[in-house]
Amino acid sequence: MCQKDEEWTIHFLNKSLLIRAKWALSASIPPISDAGILIKNGIIAEVGTFRELKKYNTYPTKDLGECILLPALVNPHLHLELSALKGKLPQGEGFVAWVREMLALRPQLKERDMQFSAEKEAEKLKAQGVFALGDISNTLITKEIFEKKGFMGWLFKEILSPELPSEFLPEFVLPSAHSPYTTPANVIKKIKAICNRKKGIFTIHCAESKEEVEFLKYGTGELARLLEERGKLKELTSPGRHPVEYLYELGVLDEKTLLVHCVYIGKREIELIKRAGAWVCLCPRSNVYIGVGRAPAEKLFKAGVKLCLGTDSLASNYDLSPLKELAYFLETNSWCSPLKALPFITLNAAQGLRLKNLGDIAKGFRACFVRLSPDNSFYFLFDKELK
Ligand SMILES: [Zn+2]
Repeated sequence: MCQKDEEWTIHFLNKSLLIRAKWALSASIPPISDAGILIKNGIIAEVGTFRELKKYNTYPTKDLGECILLPALVNPHLHLELSALKGKLPQGEGFVAWVREMLALRPQLKERDMQFSAEKEAEKLKAQGVFALGDISNTLITKEIFEKKGFMGWLFKEILSPELPSEFLPEFVLPSAHSPYTTPANVIKKIKAICNRKKGIFTIHCAESKEEVEFLKYGTGELARLLEERGKLKELTSPGRHPVEYLYELGVLDEKTLLVHCVYIGKREIELIKRAGAWVCLCPRSNVYIGVGRAPAEKLFKAGVKLCLGTDSLASNYDLSPLKELAYFLETNSWCSPLKALPFITLNAAQGLRLKNLGDIAKGFRACFVRLSPDNSFYFLFDKELK
């Protein structure tokens, strides 16, 4: 990857001009060769071939040359504040071993180190064309970074306890539930109500491990033992249901819900997710890092479930790059193609977070792009499909 990070991102805020690129890849229409994009006041006004748009030659014209233009990237699920844990947690030892190590290491982190690592990773994301985030935080120490870097999207204040979330959070901050095995039912419902009132998205980790499913269905297993050791079983009882069925029955699954992981789900759960219209964020590299298995991505896709891709945190991944997550997803899902999967890190990821006019190269969308030049390794990921 020779292309310098700072050359990836292009945004034409408040500008009016006509741009030309060798290729423009929209998330909703077929690729356009020798593309022309008319931008008025920072918003895409027209998209077509450069020849079709030549009539607008009274606008200043910028030729981006030999490149593939992608829509703005979105990482809909990450935990910037855990960036200081990069490389510190065990790989492939399974979910409960990973959680135990996380619980041991997390209290040792110093706030200053957490902020420093989070800021470094946020800079990388900005440089690589990630314009919006769904960033999960327990401490809100990333609030300032989120604002300073000008990310769109949401900062989620994650709740893991019986404590009810505050209604009084900054405009871009929403409460989120950690999981069906840590966040009590009444708290999950309250979080969902606040997210609805703020016209935001309700998000929760769900069906990440077989231990989670066992605990929710039967109240047994390694996760039950861990929760008991930590004195949590007083406030959390097993509902006797699969996590997806449980959330469905609580009434919190709908088109304003983003379920994260969904590794251990079958036909019935896919049907419930589809019926509810909920979004699913897959985190394939995090799942393989921890050693929990692989989500049934093809079944979800073919059932018509709306999918996006997130990286989760550096406690279970090597970087926070949506393009690297996409490349790994394609390596392990031969049924899919780069063009089919591009919306997972652009338009679907934006819509999964309820962000309007972001993540596509189409009329009415913000003029934010990622420019891949031929010396960028991701150029070839797409280029091989374009010939
Ligand atoms: Zn997560």
